[in-house]
Amino acid sequence: MDMGIAGKWALVCGASKGLGFGCAQALVREGVNVVLVARGAPTLQQAVRTLLADLARPADTVVEHVAADITTVEGRAAAFARHGEYDIVVTNAGGPPPGDFRTWDRDAWIKAVDANMLTPIELIKATVDGMAARGFGRIINITSSAVKAPIDVLGLSNGARSGLTGFVAGVARTTKLASADVTINNLLPGVFDTDRVRGMAHGTAAKTGQTVEAIIEARRNNIPARRLGTPDEFGAACAFLCSRHGSYITGQNVLIDGGAYPGTY
Ligand code: NAD
Repeated sequence: MDMGIAGKWALVCGASKGLGFGCAQALVREGVNVVLVARGAPTLQQAVRTLLADLARPADTVVEHVAADITTVEGRAAAFARHGEYDIVVTNAGGPPPGDFRTWDRDAWIKAVDANMLTPIELIKATVDGMAARGFGRIINITSSAVKAPIDVLGLSNGARSGLTGFVAGVARTTKLASADVTINNLLPGVFDTDRVRGMAHGTAAKTGQTVEAIIEARRNNIPARRLGTPDEFGAACAFLCSRHGSYITGQNVLIDGGAYPGTY
């Protein structure tokens, strides 16, 4: 299928590894010029090298990077200094830590809300009117299955991401954006095989004495597909929503979880 987005410019946040990298790779393979943002320069530079060496990349596709914290004003300014007008924006940053809500103070909440609610909103604010004026735009927010099925220890994520979800539900449906082929959707990962998930498994292993593999195996066994998702397949879903064919899909929360969510809706 021709996605019809070759030559567009995309900003992909949290793109040096994991789900953000999967999105960047899928877009680059469609001929989209991509600016990757992540905090750590060495991992980011390695990600750029991997994308440039990808034989599935159309030869004239541009891949650039900005080492910055996207949750800061300066970080966002650096991303827009690299390229002023993005056609596609994938919002993403690290998820908040797990824990007991009794131990979270105001600073912990502000940090989570900043990273997982206000940063995507700032990126939407900075781009959608320009997209509408140019007659094409795609925003993809990487959120979490926890928006639909909250996980008790991830209260910071449940709360902050639900705020973003409510905001997107309203703004995506405005005629000004939808009639100008500007769509805003959330992708909700279940359990994917990334450093974050492995890191959390290491944390649980240290606390419980179980092996990391036993912890991952237990997670697998809770998923009807009996496996963890891959950043590749997450990226493919992202590229489809960003494509010309995604034009009539907006304001949606798309779960990608191997059947783990147990509800009808
Ligand atoms: P990951 O740790 O593998 O990768 C995170 C990426 O984001 C890295 O490139 C990192 O450098 C970058 N990053 C983190 N904070 C940043 C910041 N402030 N500014 C710029 N870049 C930043 O994580 P992942 O598994 O790919 O998860 C991505 C998002 O999806 C997270 O918010 C996570 O909570 C959420 N999520 C992941 C899963 C999963 O199974 N992997 C499930 C549900 C939700």
